[in-house]
Amino acid sequence: MKLQNKTALITGASRGIGYAVAECFLREGAAVAVCSLTEQSAAAAKEALLKAVPAGRVYAQRADVSQSADCEGFVQNAFREFGAIDILVNNAGITKDTLMLRMKEADFDAVINVNLKGAFLMSKAAVKFMMKGAEGSIINMSSVVGQTGNAGQINYAASKAGLIGLTKAMAKEFASRNIRVNTVAPGFVSTDMTNALSEELRAEVLKSIPLKRFAQAADIANAALFLACGDASYITGQVLAVNGGLYV
Ligand code: NAP
Repeated sequence: MKLQNKTALITGASRGIGYAVAECFLREGAAVAVCSLTEQSAAAAKEALLKAVPAGRVYAQRADVSQSADCEGFVQNAFREFGAIDILVNNAGITKDTLMLRMKEADFDAVINVNLKGAFLMSKAAVKFMMKGAEGSIINMSSVVGQTGNAGQINYAASKAGLIGLTKAMAKEFASRNIRVNTVAPGFVSTDMTNALSEELRAEVLKSIPLKRFAQAADIANAALFLACGDASYITGQVLAVNGGLYV
């Protein structure tokens, strides 16, 4: 098992990619602390994770990553529960898509606040505890859209491109503490987020993916596992694209 005796925090882990990462890390021996937007979704995630891995150690709570007090609280509670924080996956993310001229300022702010500021707030809270250990790994969930841009998603693309800059700067700041910081940039993944797209758009996107399928959440979890574990001990500040060849 690749994450034996490790403790991992995963945001937005009630469903989709975050849940898959939590289950994967749990199977690899990590104790996992997960958060999502409601108490109900967090409790349901804990129940499902323990059903999948009955011997696993799981802590779950509601926390809004765009709120610094929630981030501080989640990190402190996880540390109290497990006594260490080795890995953080900043996965929580939202979309509020529309063309720029129709986009409300509030929709721009909301997406930046959750997707980009949330990663800053949660990382800031977690590194203080990570520095108590000998090493750490932070993984920020970006998107192919942060690399290519996408019409109708200027807020989302800006937040995901911002995560790449955040990753590179954090990698340089924390390398001396042996804390590695990397980004996973998924292409299109079958989750609630992409299920919300129209059939026509999904068919159109599929044509442009060389591997001719959407990713499964587990494909992304495997990439996060690689970056989180010792196999990637000399990798920091990088963007790992998991996009089926959509952008090379
Ligand atoms: P999803 O299925 O829509 O799930 C989103 C998760 O984030 C849920 O657990 C949700 O909690 C949580 N969340 C939302 N706002 C939050 C907040 N303010 N604070 C804490 N948690 C919050 O999303 P997904 O498709 O798995 O995507 C996960 C990440 O991968 C996102 O960052 C997304 O941008 C990125 N990504 C996804 C794709 C894709 O094709 N799906 C592609 C590239 C990148 P509740 O259940 O309580 O609402």
